[in-house]
Amino acid sequence: MSEQRPKYDPAAIEPERQRAWEQAGAYETPDPESGRSAVYVKPSSPFTSGNLHMGHVRDYSIGDAYARYRRALGDSVLLGFGFDAFGLPAEMAAIERNVAPAEWVVESGERMLEQMKRLGYSFDYDRVFYSSDESQYRWSQWLFVTLLEAGLVYRADTTVDWCDHCQTTLAALQVEDGRCWRCHNEVRLIKRPTWFLKVTPYLEENDRNLDGFENWNELALKTQRYILGRNEGVELELDGGEEAVTVFSPHPGAVAEGRFVLVSPRHPRVEEWAAEPEVRARLDELRSGGWERSARDARAVPVIDTGSSLRVEGGGELPIVISPIVDARYGPTAALAIPAADEADEAIAARVPRAEAAPPAPGLASIATRETTRYRATDFSIGRQRYWGTPIPVVNCESCGPVPVPVEQLPVVLPRDIKPTGEGNPLAERPDFLETECPRCGEPAERETDTLDCHFDALWLWVPAAVPPEDRGEQMFTHPDLRHWLPSERLVAGNDSGSFVFDQRAVTKALRDIGPFEFIADGEPFAGCLFHEMVVAGGRKMSKHLGNVVDPDELVAAHGADAVRLAILYAAGPAKTLNWNDGAMRFASRFLGGLWSYAIERFATVADVPRDEEAEEDTGFMRDRLAKWCENGIERIGADLDDLQMHKAVRNLTRFFDRIQDFEKRVVKRRGVLSRADAEAQAEALVLLLRALAPFAPHFSEGLLAAAGREEEIESLSLWPQPAESLS
Ligand SMILES: [Zn+2]
Ligand SMILES: [Zn+2]
Repeated sequence: MSEQRPKYDPAAIEPERQRAWEQAGAYETPDPESGRSAVYVKPSSPFTSGNLHMGHVRDYSIGDAYARYRRALGDSVLLGFGFDAFGLPAEMAAIERNVAPAEWVVESGERMLEQMKRLGYSFDYDRVFYSSDESQYRWSQWLFVTLLEAGLVYRADTTVDWCDHCQTTLAALQVEDGRCWRCHNEVRLIKRPTWFLKVTPYLEENDRNLDGFENWNELALKTQRYILGRNEGVELELDGGEEAVTVFSPHPGAVAEGRFVLVSPRHPRVEEWAAEPEVRARLDELRSGGWERSARDARAVPVIDTGSSLRVEGGGELPIVISPIVDARYGPTAALAIPAADEADEAIAARVPRAEAAPPAPGLASIATRETTRYRATDFSIGRQRYWGTPIPVVNCESCGPVPVPVEQLPVVLPRDIKPTGEGNPLAERPDFLETECPRCGEPAERETDTLDCHFDALWLWVPAAVPPEDRGEQMFTHPDLRHWLPSERLVAGNDSGSFVFDQRAVTKALRDIGPFEFIADGEPFAGCLFHEMVVAGGRKMSKHLGNVVDPDELVAAHGADAVRLAILYAAGPAKTLNWNDGAMRFASRFLGGLWSYAIERFATVADVPRDEEAEEDTGFMRDRLAKWCENGIERIGADLDDLQMHKAVRNLTRFFDRIQDFEKRVVKRRGVLSRADAEAQAEALVLLLRALAPFAPHFSEGLLAAAGREEEIESLSLWPQPAESLS
């Protein structure tokens, strides 16, 4: 072993392999009509933040390994994504840098694509898109108009969450503990006309379908159930004057013991009951102060006694108390409070003298109830008073009111030369944008200046990658390829994507009912879904402020892309928060470095090992055992890949290598040296190991075979070994 063998040098190998892939068009999306099964692997859609973070690396390393594996199984694979490029994060970043968001977005995206290519992710880069491209957002506008016509988008004059700092309304899901998800300032409720997306018609179906999801991991299912917030119970009618009031209770057996009614501050009739000036003032205060929405702490949550009551048919009446605890538990509804059956109700009663003293209402004992379900999930606002978003395709006409822009006149183009300052909505100050004609009566009218929240773009952000870029202008939701690629076989996303996925599921059902997606019978965009937890460092979320940000570029420069990919996959199972540390990085570097030196030496010498019939016969049983080990190893790693349990697969790869080394040790122990048949069997085993490793460390497997002069075997790396292929 005196000869100098080429050392493992990822900095040399990786760019070379990447160039080869690009030249060969290795990861172009195949024709989905080839007859092979079409598998669409959908990684998360990144914001154009300008930098990949370790969470992305985790996401794409899982998705890429899975996509490579499915290709190796012979499937037609689409691995594609687009940037979530509109919205506050991009606009804020652009304001900070004093550039136009349009400029910032492209610059950031290009930089992130470079990083992805350097990490060796096998995306079809020709299919990458930006949600802020005109050719994209015209379809967001199409979707808006289509949903508006179907009654699933509506404008309501309602109280909405408002962030003073970001100068915009927020969706309920963007309010975390009473604070803005973006700037963490307190939000308050204001009243203004706002566009809403109606998801309530699909809550039950979203709920029901969860039971049949076989390829969804527990974490993904958990987020869907959490967002739904399902409560089983009964509802009953109380006399609310002109119109009856429907009241919910999760305690069907205890209805007769109801003492008062809790209503959400967002109940459509709340102002009627809060008519007293003093009560009204307190309600306004509650709305402007913001509240901790997730708080279920009945001892601290705001409560307002309205002084009003609801009559019970058959006798008695129930005081009305306003509290956002209703929203946190059942959504913006009204609930029968039963202190005897419900601890939270008991705690609230103790804080409201009129509720505590309320006598039983005898009518409740005989009142009719019906079984029902309440979901905490509810319609959400989609309009924003910001510049950087899809213009809402509506014209406000003095005589006709809000009129949707006809589909054939789309897109309503967003001026791209604006440098926002963060104050006001610059679209309202651009006459060239603002002034238009009413599509209905032809009179001068003004365009809607609200733009769509990027959450709306995200409703269909999983679709465009499945449509060839050259067709996207003409056909999007009706493109014939969609019938092959959809639903996506697997979504791989961070567990903070739960609300995106939930709303994508609702809108897919809407598009099924409206027509274009009628071929997706269950209305589910993702047949499988793997959610993973985040990556932290030192037990804490990575942040510039804490100085604990791990930079993927630095890791790649120091250890190579394959080692980084292997390390992040190895470090933790998807359902666990990954606490990044050097241990995983050291493990991956040591494994790859060790395998390289070991294999390159054996490949180089195998042809020189002398034949020895007697010895070969003597060690035949050992080669048989090695063959069994290979078969087992491949089978296990394949099963891990099927389940996207990449951390287990990496462990099984290391065991596979251990077994190959073990084989040599045992033969040497028995015979002193390897015979030719042993050395050949070992080299074959090493090639099988490289084939199993290829989805995780693709540069390495190819680079090693190339360095060993076994180029003709590189092609075998893109085929998953079959059991019959084990050692001859
Ligand atoms: Zn804010
Ligand atoms: Zn008009």
